[in-house]
Amino acid sequence: MGLELPYRALRPWLWARFGRAVHRVALDAGSSCPNRDGTLGRGGCFYCDVEGSGTGALRAGLDLSAQLAQGLARIARRDPLGGAIAYFQSYSNTYVEPQRLREVLGVVDPHIAPRGNVVAIALATRPDTLGEEALSILREHNTRVPVWLELGLETASDRVLAEINRLHTVADFEAAAARAHESGLAVIGHAILGLPGDGREGARRTAGVLARARVAGVKVHQLMVLRKTVLEHRWREGAVDTLELDEYVAWLADFVERLDPEQVLHRLTGDATAEQLLAPQWSLAKVGPNVVRGRLLRELERRGTRQGSLREALAPGPAAASGR
Ligand code: SF4
Repeated sequence: MGLELPYRALRPWLWARFGRAVHRVALDAGSSCPNRDGTLGRGGCFYCDVEGSGTGALRAGLDLSAQLAQGLARIARRDPLGGAIAYFQSYSNTYVEPQRLREVLGVVDPHIAPRGNVVAIALATRPDTLGEEALSILREHNTRVPVWLELGLETASDRVLAEINRLHTVADFEAAAARAHESGLAVIGHAILGLPGDGREGARRTAGVLARARVAGVKVHQLMVLRKTVLEHRWREGAVDTLELDEYVAWLADFVERLDPEQVLHRLTGDATAEQLLAPQWSLAKVGPNVVRGRLLRELERRGTRQGSLREALAPGPAAASGR
């Protein structure tokens, strides 16, 4: 296999794009989510914890500029030449008043390279919370620093999306990705393998939707049962199971084979701390990511395939925003 990886990994892509190592600073802007505040629902997606799948830093009393300053200082100690991605992770970050979105992005402004070392901003949000004003603010910001929109697809099945209480559809994701691309934003699509009722075929179909949506990047992880989630109760009742490591690696290989070869894999696995995680135990942050990466390499080598080997032929269309 030589030194060339059989998939497009994030780290070398970041090096090629920014000429240095780049690290993430996870930020909690105190946004909310229509699936939690009652607009769409109250319970949230069944796997989402009370921190909105994020850091909970704001709840812990750390305002945004302090979170960013701490994160940047941590990077500077570890890698003085390193760049940073300001990553708004928690909840739905475009689900705020336009003025608030401007304020939040404004906190990053003084740190944008070359003045500071922030080389990109990534915002996680739901496909159904991308209003025109939010898009216009992001488009304007994207002229100063690359803005990546992290959009949850999770699965290609509307039935499974309803069962896990996502309360949006696959078509919502496709429409949001298309609108973001028209605005020149790079999109990173999120997927979860092993959702109940989705199966191995579901993993394959989800990769197909992400390839057709021409998103620039993909984050994929296994279903994890975290404490303080609806999923925790379903799992304790025995109504939901999680994937074994071997299963996940086989499904992940199927998934990677069906992506477009140009799409950058930002994440291959989820990890969680021992305090948060109930199952599967192989997801523990200290071991999971490296083990999955190594097993995926071996599995693709065994199959003689690589990213994109089994992608559908796509009709010619606009190239995805490149992740500039
Ligand atoms: S959309 Fe995101 S923040 Fe909202 S409930 Fe689902 S996972 Fe949690």
